Amino acid sequence: MYDFDLTVVGSANADLVIDVERRPAAGETVLGSDLAVHPGGKGANQAVAAARLGARTALLARVGDDAYGRLLLDSQRAAGVDTAQVLVGKAPTGVALITVDPSGDNSIVVSPGANAHLTPEDVRAAAALLGASKVVSTQLEIPLETVVEVVRRLAPGTRFVLNPSPPVPLPDEVLAAADPLIVNEHEAGVILGDGAAGDTPEQWAKALLERGPRSVVVTLGGEGALVATRDAITRIAAVSVDAVDTTGAGDAFTAALGYGLGAGATLEAAATYAARVGALAVTRRGAQDSYPTAEEVDTL
Ligand code: ADP
Repeated sequence: MYDFDLTVVGSANADLVIDVERRPAAGETVLGSDLAVHPGGKGANQAVAAARLGARTALLARVGDDAYGRLLLDSQRAAGVDTAQVLVGKAPTGVALITVDPSGDNSIVVSPGANAHLTPEDVRAAAALLGASKVVSTQLEIPLETVVEVVRRLAPGTRFVLNPSPPVPLPDEVLAAADPLIVNEHEAGVILGDGAAGDTPEQWAKALLERGPRSVVVTLGGEGALVATRDAITRIAAVSVDAVDTTGAGDAFTAALGYGLGAGATLEAAATYAARVGALAVTRRGAQDSYPTAEEVDTL
């Protein structure tokens, strides 16, 4: 009945990465490694992660008519994502300039470019796609008004998954639709406002539920995750792995969770599956390059 297990409405960026001995101070120039260019952006990452797991996945996003836009379209298609709604326009493809020092700390400047031009009108034009999807997920690297329009255009049977990253205070209408709202500690703090969160993830989850979402998932890195509904709060243990690079783990987790929920899993079962996918993603370098297939998850 549904054409897609998951439609992601979100960002697509080229990640431009240079390793440096030391990140430059104001006015300083430092020499770094050769430039590495990777497809990225939370929306594009989530779509690739879901498709690699076998989900029938579509991406609604905007890129520019340039080399980075083609790189992003190629990586989506290679993973099996439907790109009919990856819109190509005049604004340049979004770019993240990333410098990484030997300790793994990074500094990032994002130029949203085309992502800032994904409009409510684009969402209205893609209403048929949203209606043909079991689950729709968004993040916040696109305009908030576009996310609001997604919520307004959801078909009655479609589930909405929201990872509010980068976080901003959210309108009630958006919070109320999220099922679940997926946050890490930092995002929970921003959504709740300073000092409102309490000390434990359980307290953050309870406080977040009071803001209206039907369910909440708190991701806790190497500590796993926590799922919360009005009936119960359950810890999901992390799978023990040798972590090499956590880039994009949250996106892999969110994609796997959305796919699992669309397949009819309970929130707890979907989060358990997502924790396995997130764990595999941290065992390899990069974001999209690190995402596992369903077979790899089964044999973990
Ligand atoms: P975010 O990038 O959004 O902060 P996290 O770092 O919490 O997200 O990662 C998302 C999920 O990936 C976690 O909830 C966990 O299940 C898994 N994960 C992340 N880091 C590790 C790790 N070091 N070991 C095992 N699992 C991990």
